[in-house]
Amino acid sequence: VLPGLWRLRLPLIWKEIRSANAWAIDDGQGGCVLVDCGMAGPAPCGWHLLRAALAAAGFAPADVSLLVVTHCHADHYGLAGPVVEAAGCELWMHPAHGHLTDEKRNLADLVRRRRARALRAGAPPAVVEHCADVTEEREGVAWVIEPDRLLTDGVEVGTGLGVWQVVETPGHAPSHVCLFEPRRRLLLSGDHVLPVWAPYFELGYSLDPVSEYLRSLTRVERLEPELLLPGHGRSSRNAGGRIRAARTGTLRDVEAIRDALEREPSDAWTLLLQVLDTSSDLDRSWAVPTVLAYLLYLERRGEVERDEEGEVTVWRVAS
Ligand SMILES: [Zn+2]
Repeated sequence: VLPGLWRLRLPLIWKEIRSANAWAIDDGQGGCVLVDCGMAGPAPCGWHLLRAALAAAGFAPADVSLLVVTHCHADHYGLAGPVVEAAGCELWMHPAHGHLTDEKRNLADLVRRRRARALRAGAPPAVVEHCADVTEEREGVAWVIEPDRLLTDGVEVGTGLGVWQVVETPGHAPSHVCLFEPRRRLLLSGDHVLPVWAPYFELGYSLDPVSEYLRSLTRVERLEPELLLPGHGRSSRNAGGRIRAARTGTLRDVEAIRDALEREPSDAWTLLLQVLDTSSDLDRSWAVPTVLAYLLYLERRGEVERDEEGEVTVWRVAS
């Protein structure tokens, strides 16, 4: 992408999102700092592909001097164990990684809660089964390793391409951080800002992920980044435009849900079909926590309320 900066495009198992990016940054000492690392499995994902991608950039696994993870999702953190084992390097990650690391230690409980949540949202059986699927957690993460250093505001990551500032950006996931290099105005944005608007909110680990997400967009917008280096897709010279599109998309979705509820009370599944643009049952299973996060945002602002009398929760505008 730039001299000393490589995008490592790693395949994923979903036709909805075909690849994830890891980024190799020249560390100024003959090796590289690796930002994110792709999924451990199932095939075709795996350690051999990350090794091949590193080799294409001119690095052996042992050349990785530091692994930084933008957030603790399987497609960004899954190979952390093998990378650290092969390289003998440290792992740096935000402390709020329990939404994956704790859950992986008790997958049966995660399945039960996700299934119950999808049923309560009113999702049909095929989508409930996608919601309850934990292949990503079980096979996508090789094994759980804890960070050697916690990525919080003020931490800096030194590389041959400058010093990157850590910016906490919860919303997509509570463990999310971006890395900003002020001299060239580079933003390693993980899944916080992507080239296309594709909302997902990790639900159940913070009070109001959508509010957090909007605040996190403002935080990175104030940095005035120019080159966006996202967790999926190509880099973009229009970082500011991508940030604005993410905010507009979020607020438009929230507005559409409020408008729909003004017409009639509804369950989350019906709202999802009305408001979110989805292409498959898998896609719709990802949208279940997202639409619930929007409803939570509106509920906390006193705009909607829920009725949990029946088996499916019904939402309506607040009286
Ligand atoms: Zn993610």
